[in-house]
Amino acid sequence: MKTIGLIGGMSWESTLEYYKILNQTVKLKLGGLHSAKCLIYSVDFEEIEMLQHEDRWEELTNKMIDAAKRLKRGGAEFIMICTNTMHKMAEDIEKNVGIKVLHIAEATGKKVVEKGIKKVGLLGTKFTMEGDFYKKVLKDKFDIDVVIPDENEREIVHDIIYKELCKGEIKESSKEKYKKVIDNLAKKGAKGVILGCTEIPLLIKQEDANIEVFDTTTIHAVSAVDFALDI
Ligand code: GLU
Repeated sequence: MKTIGLIGGMSWESTLEYYKILNQTVKLKLGGLHSAKCLIYSVDFEEIEMLQHEDRWEELTNKMIDAAKRLKRGGAEFIMICTNTMHKMAEDIEKNVGIKVLHIAEATGKKVVEKGIKKVGLLGTKFTMEGDFYKKVLKDKFDIDVVIPDENEREIVHDIIYKELCKGEIKESSKEKYKKVIDNLAKKGAKGVILGCTEIPLLIKQEDANIEVFDTTTIHAVSAVDFALDI
């Protein structure tokens, strides 16, 4: 089993899920007392969030490279960035650290294709929904078309992530707002929706949507176990 290096703490609410899913999946696949070999480097999310909203991406890239280097020195054989947003610098990490980064959008793209879906909605932070880094992987590697919510809906989705979900607050009123946004994505032709922020699965489950839901936290963590076990 390969040792997994997790860059976590973005936020720790979702890193907990990663840790749980990794171990549950190893147990499921190997049985007995087997569990995941992993290292977690967990950041202070207040620092990260501030730099993101001040558009200081170069500093953020350096922080992620530093985190990956620490994990590599500790024996990690590949890296998982436990947030969709920070995959913005996935290539820089791979290049500068010389270690494989198991990409969340690639793992998710594979699942979308498996379901035979060609057009999918994307929910996440504004950085993920509006930027190119995530949609490009889906389009270039899997030929998947992505639709995103309208501007005011993007604002709602983004604010709920930072003001509630990353603080562990799960509100029924926010769930209702997300459900409406997902309905509107379906009206735009989306046959599925990517929960492209690792905290959204804490709020939205398959039963909350009329279209296929892709939980990136679970998809990413399970794909890491497959990779670690060479399945
Ligand atoms: N965990 C979230 C994501 O998957 C947001 C936190 C962050 O900005 O990194 O994008």
